[in-house]
Amino acid sequence: MKIIPSLLFLQLIFLAFNCKLNAQQPNKPNIIIILTDDQGYGDVGFNGSKQLKTPNIDKLAKNGAIFTNGYVSYAVCGPSRAGLITGRYQDQFGYSRNPLFAPKDASLGLPLEEETLAEALKKAGYTNMAIGKWHLGAHTTLRPLKRGFDEFYGFLSGGHKYFPEQLIRNDLSEVGSQFDAYNTKLLRNDTRVEETEYLTDAFSREAVNFVDKNAKKPFFLYLAYNAPHAPLQATKKYLSRYPNIKNKDRKTYAAMVSAVDDGVGLLLQKLKDLNIEKNTIVFFLSDNGGNENKGSFNGPLKKGKGSLFEGGIRVPFAVQWKGTILPNQKFEHPMISLDIFATAVAQANITPKNKIDGKNLIPYLSGKNNEPPHKALYWRMYDKKSVAVRKDNFKYIIEKGGEVGLYNLTNDISEKNNIKDSLKSKELKSLFEIWNKNNIKPIFYGLGENKEYNQKHPKRFKNVEKY
Ligand code: CA
Repeated sequence: MKIIPSLLFLQLIFLAFNCKLNAQQPNKPNIIIILTDDQGYGDVGFNGSKQLKTPNIDKLAKNGAIFTNGYVSYAVCGPSRAGLITGRYQDQFGYSRNPLFAPKDASLGLPLEEETLAEALKKAGYTNMAIGKWHLGAHTTLRPLKRGFDEFYGFLSGGHKYFPEQLIRNDLSEVGSQFDAYNTKLLRNDTRVEETEYLTDAFSREAVNFVDKNAKKPFFLYLAYNAPHAPLQATKKYLSRYPNIKNKDRKTYAAMVSAVDDGVGLLLQKLKDLNIEKNTIVFFLSDNGGNENKGSFNGPLKKGKGSLFEGGIRVPFAVQWKGTILPNQKFEHPMISLDIFATAVAQANITPKNKIDGKNLIPYLSGKNNEPPHKALYWRMYDKKSVAVRKDNFKYIIEKGGEVGLYNLTNDISEKNNIKDSLKSKELKSLFEIWNKNNIKPIFYGLGENKEYNQKHPKRFKNVEKY
C-alpha cells in the first residue's frame, strides 16, 4: 500500500524545520535600564546597607551579578546620562556640563550626530520607551521622541517635584527660570497630562504598563527615576517604613529609595508573570554617587556627587539576565555604565553608528572570559580641572588642579593613603593624556553659568512654545 503523507505529518516536518530556524536565530533580548538619581554606593542592601531595605533591588542583584567596582562616566547627572545613552565618553562630544534648562536652545543637549541606544536598537526593530528624567535637552529637536524613543512619560529638566499637587505649571510658557521647570506637569509624549500619583509610583506604573503592552516583541525600557534626587519628598506610605530614623533628610531619602524598590519589585514580577525573564536583561544603577548633604550614604567611599573620588563615580550597580548571566556573582573587575550600550547592541546584533567605548559584558558574566573588560577607565571634569584614571587596582586622581593622588583601591577603598609612586603615576598620567586627545571642550553652558547665560540670552524664557 502506498503511504500518502498526511497533512499532520507535513505539519510536523514544517514545525521541526521551523524550530531549527528559531534555534539558530535566538530572540533579541529586551533591554531594561533602571537608573536612579544620586543614590549612594552604600544605599542598597547588596552593598551592605544596614539601614535601607531594598529587597527587590537585592533580588535583581542576586539573580545575576553585582558590580562591586561599577562606575559611571561622570560625577553629576547630565554628562553621566549622555555617556550611558551613547556608550561613549561624553567628553568626546563636549557634554561635559550639566546642561541649563533652555527649551529654545537647540545646542543645549545631546548633539544629534550622537546615536542614542534607542536609535541603535530601532535598527533591530525594538520598541522603545523613556520614563522619568530626560536631562538630554529640552529643545523640541532634542526630546525623547526625536532620539529613538517611541514613547515618553516624564519631564525634561534635571529634577522634579514628587507630589502631584505641586505640578502646577501647564506648559513651558509658564516657566520663567531655571528651577521653575521642577514643577511643570508631566509630558506624555508631547502632551502635558494631569498626574495623580506620587511621581516614583507613577513612573513604576508606566514601566509595568509598557512591558505588559510590548512583551511579544523586543523592547527597550529606559526607566530613569529622579528619586532619590532632591527635593527630598516622600509619602507616608514609604516614610512609615523607617520609624527609627531620626534625621529628617535621611528618613525621607530612605523612603524615596523604598518607593523605587517597590517599583523594581513590580517590574520584576511583571517579567516573571509574562514569562520573559530569560529574554530580558535588566540593569540597575545610579547616575552618580550620593550627595551626603541630601541624605545619602556612600559607604566606605570618599566624598560623593561632584567629586572624582570614588564616592562620586562608583555607584550601586547590578544586572540580571536569567538563564544567561550566572546568578550570585560578585563581579570585581572595574566596569562602567558605557558597557550597557555595548552589551545591548551586541545582543541585538547591531553595528553602532559611532565608535563606542563600552564592552559587551556577557562573555565576562557567563563565565567565558575571566580577564578584566577594560585596560583602564577615565574621567575628566573640565571646569573643575579634575581628572582620574582607574587601571587594575590603582586610581590616579587630581581634584581641582591640586596634588596628584595615587591609591591602591584593593587595600584602600577609602582613598586615604596616597602612595606617591611616581613611576605608576607617570604611567597612568600618560594613559590619561592619550585618552584626552580625543576629547573636546564643553559645547554648551552649564548650570554654573545660569546668570551669564541669562545675560547673553535675555529672552531665554520669552515666547517659549506652549508644550
Ligand atoms: Ca544624579
